[in-house]
Amino acid sequence: MSKSIKVEKLVFSYNKNKILDNINLEFIEGNIITIIGPNGSGKSTLLKNIASTLTPQEGTVFLGNKELKKYSLKELARQIGVVPQNTNIEYDFTAYDIVLMGRNPYIKRFQIESEADISIVEEVMKKTNTWDLKDRNINELSGGECQRVVIARALAQEPKIILLDEPTAALDMHHQIEILDLLKVLNKQKNITVIIALHDINLAARYSNKILLLNKGKQVIMGNPENVITKKNLQLAYKINMIVDKNKYTNSLQVIPLSNLKI
Ligand code: ADP
Ligand code: MG
Repeated sequence: MSKSIKVEKLVFSYNKNKILDNINLEFIEGNIITIIGPNGSGKSTLLKNIASTLTPQEGTVFLGNKELKKYSLKELARQIGVVPQNTNIEYDFTAYDIVLMGRNPYIKRFQIESEADISIVEEVMKKTNTWDLKDRNINELSGGECQRVVIARALAQEPKIILLDEPTAALDMHHQIEILDLLKVLNKQKNITVIIALHDINLAARYSNKILLLNKGKQVIMGNPENVITKKNLQLAYKINMIVDKNKYTNSLQVIPLSNLKI
């Protein structure tokens, strides 16, 4: 069965404030999709509606042919892995403990983890380059290390889809590229659908094959980078003079911001 995500006529409000207004889209499986848009445009809120952390007041989210709300929590966790924007872990868990938690959707009540669970944890920690950190306390890790551990936890769920909310926002360029390259490899090798909210339009243009541009809770456009990363679309959302050009080294589109538009 296809594991695409389909969003139909979604409306989400906090209190009486409409935050997402009539969103209709499909995230086709196998793609790397980025969600861009100014601060407060609703990127995180949309991801939370897709992760089932929030429930829309109107409209429907489908995963495959089935409504998201009809999945049990465990069932959903086997399909969708989530990497939230801020992971605050209050207790003294080791990196290994955190990644092992990703196996919970597969472990029956009152059972302990099996050898298969343990070998999957080792595999995803090696893949995310976190195996050396396994005995370290999660709260002692750097931003990039912690981010990789949380990605490893999501991968331990063996999901079809991984959702990430600005996973590179706090990272330097070395670690930004490390995370995005890793997601690219996972997409290619395991056909995991990757959906990422990203601040950085240039990285979005470079790493994704579909981009959704949000502005004030509405979808401006969704499509291939060439159709979305245009001066017209971006000026509408970001209210800035800019140059949109092809980067001659990466061959992807890039944006050079100039000055804010007077409005
Ligand atoms: P983005 O991720 O694009 O920056 P968000 O989805 O976080 O945007 O926020 C969209 C809007 O929803 C913003 O106006 C924000 O202030 C509001 N918002 C976000 N979280 C809450 C909340 N828990 N309660 C009330 N309003 C919220
Ligand atoms: Mg956000």
